[in-house]
Amino acid sequence: MRYLIFSDIHGNLEALEAVLNEVKRKRIDYFLFLGDLIGYGASPNEVIKRILTLKKIFLVRGNHDKAVCGLDSIQTFNPIAASAIEWTRKNLQAKYESFLQGLPKGPLIIHQEISLCHGAPFDEDYYIFGEFDAVEAFSFIETPLCFFGHTHFPFIYVEKDQQVEGTFIQESPFELKLEKGARYLINPGSVGQPRDRDPRAAYAIYDSQTKKIKFYRAKYDINRAQKKILEAKLPSALAERLSLGI
Ligand code: ZN
Repeated sequence: MRYLIFSDIHGNLEALEAVLNEVKRKRIDYFLFLGDLIGYGASPNEVIKRILTLKKIFLVRGNHDKAVCGLDSIQTFNPIAASAIEWTRKNLQAKYESFLQGLPKGPLIIHQEISLCHGAPFDEDYYIFGEFDAVEAFSFIETPLCFFGHTHFPFIYVEKDQQVEGTFIQESPFELKLEKGARYLINPGSVGQPRDRDPRAAYAIYDSQTKKIKFYRAKYDINRAQKKILEAKLPSALAERLSLGI
């Protein structure tokens, strides 16, 4: 089985389309999405509409998804993120608001082998930054593999012989071969708002036959996504950061 692992689209239709376009040639059996369809970008309706065309998709909700549909307050968000959430609330179609409300909370277990969560398996809003957090996360994971998002950084944590080691993935493509007896906690990076200074859309593909996970970056029309943000009168910083990948 081949799985597309993707996260944090944040209303960036151009980035999403670039990823889906690239994977057309790569045969995908299931789409696994790790949360934050919307928030920041100017195309929330278009992104959800496109996601709904994907068959065989499993999704968990992100903190922005929750805040936009009223399941969470905007108090924990910084002013720019909060104003983007307000804008998205105003512009989101009602049918998509109820779609967001129905998204499951992670961890979600797929095919007895994979866990999906947005932040961490013990708290969907928690940021896993570093090995200390990863050790805690592994103690809650019941599968050999867990995928997470939320930090917008492509990252691998391996647990082997009771040691946990983290690696930031800067290469693209980058291939990881899963070892027997090890467990993995993996972030594919962000589709719509990468923060690792590489502005290209990030995603990964897991092949359960070959036991390989490959990390990719897709170029997309950043100018167009930025133009839409400015035209929508969202904070201009949200447009600027896309070309810097921060
Ligand atoms: Zn996010």
